[in-house]
Amino acid sequence: MREFLRQREEVFFENVHRMRRKDGSYQWVEVRGRVVERDDAGRPLRVAGVQSDISQRRELETRLERLSAGVPGALFEYRRDPNGRDSFPFCTDKISELLELTPAQLRQSAGHLLKRVHPQDVAPLLRSLLVSVQNLTPWRHSYRVLLPSGEERWISGMSQPRRADGGATLWSGYLWDTTQEHALRERLDMLVENVPGLLYQSRLEPDGRKHFAYASKGAIALYGVTPEQMCSDAQSVFARFERADFDSGMQKLAASARDLTLWSHDYRVNLPGQPQRWVRAQARPQRLPGGAVQWHGYAQDVTEARAQASRLQEAQQLLDHLMREMPVALCMVDQDGLFYYRNRAFEQYFGYGPEEVITRERWWHEVYPDEDYRAQMWRQWNDAKANAPQHGGRILPGDARMWTRSSGQRIMSVSGMAFGEHYLLAFVDQTEQHARSEMLREMAYIDALTGVANRRQLDLTLKAEWGRCRRSGQPLALLMIDIDLFKAFNDLYGHQEGDECLAAVAGALRAGLSRAHDLVGRYGGEEFLCVLPMCDLDGGLRKAETLRQAVQDLAVVHEGSNVAGVVTVSVGVAAQLPDELGDAQQLVAQADRALYLAKQQGRNRVAGG
Ligand code: GH3
Ligand code: MG
Ligand code: MG
Repeated sequence: MREFLRQREEVFFENVHRMRRKDGSYQWVEVRGRVVERDDAGRPLRVAGVQSDISQRRELETRLERLSAGVPGALFEYRRDPNGRDSFPFCTDKISELLELTPAQLRQSAGHLLKRVHPQDVAPLLRSLLVSVQNLTPWRHSYRVLLPSGEERWISGMSQPRRADGGATLWSGYLWDTTQEHALRERLDMLVENVPGLLYQSRLEPDGRKHFAYASKGAIALYGVTPEQMCSDAQSVFARFERADFDSGMQKLAASARDLTLWSHDYRVNLPGQPQRWVRAQARPQRLPGGAVQWHGYAQDVTEARAQASRLQEAQQLLDHLMREMPVALCMVDQDGLFYYRNRAFEQYFGYGPEEVITRERWWHEVYPDEDYRAQMWRQWNDAKANAPQHGGRILPGDARMWTRSSGQRIMSVSGMAFGEHYLLAFVDQTEQHARSEMLREMAYIDALTGVANRRQLDLTLKAEWGRCRRSGQPLALLMIDIDLFKAFNDLYGHQEGDECLAAVAGALRAGLSRAHDLVGRYGGEEFLCVLPMCDLDGGLRKAETLRQAVQDLAVVHEGSNVAGVVTVSVGVAAQLPDELGDAQQLVAQADRALYLAKQQGRNRVAGG
C-alpha cells in the first residue's frame, strides 16, 4: 500500500490478503483501488476502491492446486487471440517439470514452448491446433520436446476448445509425459516386426463371422498379403489355404472356441507361382465381453523343418535297417556292461538269442577262454577306451582272436565308438582275409628275410630270360651261390645271427650286380641264384669272382670256418646260348654241379665251364 501511495502517476492498487473478522476468523479478500484526490504536491488524499470476498475463489484455487498436484501431468489453459498471439494464461506448476519452462514464461508467450518442440514435430503440432481451432474439435496430439538438459521427451496432450469473448479460442486441457509409453511401444513394434513369422489376432464374432483383428508384417512373407488386407478381408488369406487343411483347421477352431483350449494346426499354403509350403500356427483363445472369441496367435513357415524331420526319419529308418542287416556284428554296451543292442550278424556269430542277457563278465570269458589272452585283450580294450577321446570318440580297429559259438575261433577286427560310457562295437570277421593275406605274402615276389627276389620271382624271371635270350641269340649265364659252412655258423652264433648274415650276404650280392636285367634271388636256405642275361661264360666267371670277393669283404667273422675265418661263398657258374632243345632248369642243374665242384675244391671259390 505504501509503495502504491508513493507513486505519482495513475496506477491501480491491487492485493490479495486475509483480514480478521469480528468473530476472529480470517477471510480472503481482494482489494482494488485508485487515488481519486491529491494535494497540490501530488500526494494522495483519497483512495476509492472495492474490497471483495474471495474466500470461495481461494478455496477453488486451493482445491485445483491439490488436484493438480495429484495428477502426473500439467493442467493448462491455452489461448489463441484473434491476432494470432498464443499464450498459456494458466498452467499448473507441473509444467516446469514437464517442459523446463515456468508458468510465468508461458503466460507471456507460447513461443517458449514452440522453441522446445522437436523441429520435425513443430509443423504437425501447429496443424493439429489449427484443425481444432477451425472445427472446435477436441485437440489430441503427441510430440517430442528437446529439453535444455539434452533429454528428449514425448509429450501427449488433450484439450477441449471453446470460443472466448473477443474472438479468442481457449483450450482447457492436460499435458503429460509419454516417453516411457513411446519407448515401450517402439520396442514392441520392433519385436513384432522382427519376429520371424506372423503374429496375429483373429476373432470369431457371435454371429459366426471370422476375421483378423491384427496382423504383423510377417503376413507378407507367409501369405503374400499385407497386414491391412488380411484384417479387412480374411477370405484373401483363407483362399490360400489348402482346402482339406482349412476344413480340419476350422473344426479344431470350433473346439478351441468352445473349450477355450489352445488351437494349433499345420496346414499347407498355396501362393501363386510358388512351391507349396507348410505353415504351423498356434493360438490361444480368450472370450471377449459380448460373446466374441479372440485368438492371439503365431504362425511360421515350417516347410524346411518338416522336410528335415522327414529326411531325418528316413535316415533313421535306413540306419536302423543297415545296423540290423549289415554283415558286421554290432552291439551296444552300457556303462554297466549290459549288451542292450545287438544286430542279426552279432547274434549269428556269437550265437546269442535275442532274449539272452549278456553281461561283460560272461562275454569276456566266453570269447576269450584263455586266461592270459583275456588279460592281454582287457588291457588293450582299456587302452583303446582311454585313447578314444583323442580320436573323436573312435575306438580304433584292433585284431582279436575270439571264440564264437557259430564257428569256433575267428580273427575279428574290433572297432567302435564311445558315447560317454556307452559303446558301439563292431566285429568284422577277418579270418579269411588273414589266411588270404598269408597266401599273398607267400605269393609275393620279394623274399621277406633278405629283401632280394624270392624263389617264385626267380623261376618266372629265369623262364622269361631264357626265352628272350633264345630269341635274340644271346647267351644266358647263371651263378649258383652257397654260403660256406653256414650250418656251423648257425650252430656257433645262433639262428638269429644266421638270418642277419643271410641278409648281409644278399645285400652284397645285390650291390654287386650292376646291369638292369641282372637279378639275384634267394633260391632256398642259404643259396642264391644270379640270372645274368646277355652274359657268356667268361663274363659269368668274372662276375662270380667279384661277388665272391664282395662277400668276403663283408668280413663277417666266422670262427667255425677253416676257409677264411670270415663268411665266404662258393659259386658255380653255367652259361649257354638258349636253344629249342634245352630249358632253364638244365642250366640251373649245371650251375649246381659247378657249385658242388667249387665246394669240393675247398670252398670260397668259383667253378664252372
Ligand atoms: P656247405 O654249404 O659249405 O657245404 O656247408 P653248410 O653248412 O652251409 O651246408 P648245409 O647244407 O649242411 O647247411 C645249410 C645250413 O644253412 C642249414 C641251415 O641251418 C642253414 N640255413 C638254411 N636256411 C637258413 C635260414 O633261413 N636262416 C638261417 N639262419 N640258417 C639257414
Ligand atoms: Mg646249401
Ligand atoms: Mg652252405
